[in-house]
Amino acid sequence: MTEAFREQLEALYAWSNGEHGGKEPTAMQTEERVREWIRQIGEDTQVLLLGGMDRNRRKGKKPCPVCGEEIYWNGYEPRQYITLLGEMQIERAYYHHGACHCGWVPLDERLGLGASELSPFVQEMVSYLGGFMPFAQAQVYLEKYQNIHISHDAVNNTTVMVGQELREKQEEAIQQAWEECELPDCEVDTLPERLYVSADGINHLLPDGQGKEIKVAAVYETEERRNKKGEIEIHAVDIDYVVATDPETLARAAYLQAVKRGAELAEEVIILGDGASWIWNRIPPMSPKPKVTEVLDFYHASEYIWDAGNAVWGQGAKEAKHWGEKQCHALKHNGPVRVLGALRALDPADDSPPEPVAKAITYFENQAHRMDYPSCTQRGTSDRQWFGRKCRQTSRRHASQSSRYALESRTRRGCRSCPCCYSQQPLG
Ligand SMILES: [Zn+2]
Repeated sequence: MTEAFREQLEALYAWSNGEHGGKEPTAMQTEERVREWIRQIGEDTQVLLLGGMDRNRRKGKKPCPVCGEEIYWNGYEPRQYITLLGEMQIERAYYHHGACHCGWVPLDERLGLGASELSPFVQEMVSYLGGFMPFAQAQVYLEKYQNIHISHDAVNNTTVMVGQELREKQEEAIQQAWEECELPDCEVDTLPERLYVSADGINHLLPDGQGKEIKVAAVYETEERRNKKGEIEIHAVDIDYVVATDPETLARAAYLQAVKRGAELAEEVIILGDGASWIWNRIPPMSPKPKVTEVLDFYHASEYIWDAGNAVWGQGAKEAKHWGEKQCHALKHNGPVRVLGALRALDPADDSPPEPVAKAITYFENQAHRMDYPSCTQRGTSDRQWFGRKCRQTSRRHASQSSRYALESRTRRGCRSCPCCYSQQPLG
């Protein structure tokens, strides 16, 4: 094999120098060819290893899983196996006990191969892509960049299957915690000082055009980074997502995820959300009260301010802009009381106020205790750490596109934080 490797390498070298009358390859051609070579080495090696695993077949007998009787192997069964290193056929020893009508392949069991032709690694990749993009697009990507040729139905089935497995796992963990009082272990080495749980409802459009609300929570920590202008930006890091259709399941799943992230021993747990009561009735009560801080997503609060201003002066009017900026600034630096006063002042004495104004007043009255942004600013190392929305967009994108209960527990990436102050009118 070493000799063959050497010969291939020499041939590659000759090809790259345009020997034997060929043209010298471009960067693209070189990369493609080397990649294909490496892939071939990977495929050959994998076939060799997987084939080698069943060599002990001649020693022969294995107990029948039904009756326990020792049975000789029956023969080989080939199976298609699609991996990142190519599509291959592997031969595995097949056992069959006629008396029990029972057949089994020990190697598949040992490797954890199910009915799918896709290797576990490819299944994970396919379901990941299937969660982010339309299945047909995922199929094109796999074909073009990974040399994996599968139908978009296979992308669909794999994504749904992996999503269902994740959902079952989530349900099992919830059952274990709530029925057997067994909490999951803490999985982090360094306990977080502050752990964030941010929840939101998302209207997901199903293929038939019908909308369906799914609920998403993100559990994360934050870190400060300096941007090119030298300003400090806060980024959510190590984001774990949980998804459910009903609020109770979502709250429980979010709590268990937080426990795995060290919530039980964290100094503070910050819960972020919009005004939806399903969030506030369920998620904060799961942690001991003294360490929970409820924060209303600043963006949501500012939306009410803008709607009220636009209703009074007209959409996009200069006065509305001026008033909205002033109130958002006041909300951030002085808290909700002053804004509530300003909203009430919009209320004409002789007439009922425009609906958005009345709605904003009610909203600020009900949510004021979650809008203590000034003290958040003082307590945080940076004010932006508290203002939420950090992962809303990411979680929304994630959830709306996967929607198959894909619990994203492996993703470790930050997303951009909100700008410092929402003094600008929110878009849309
Ligand atoms: Zn048997």
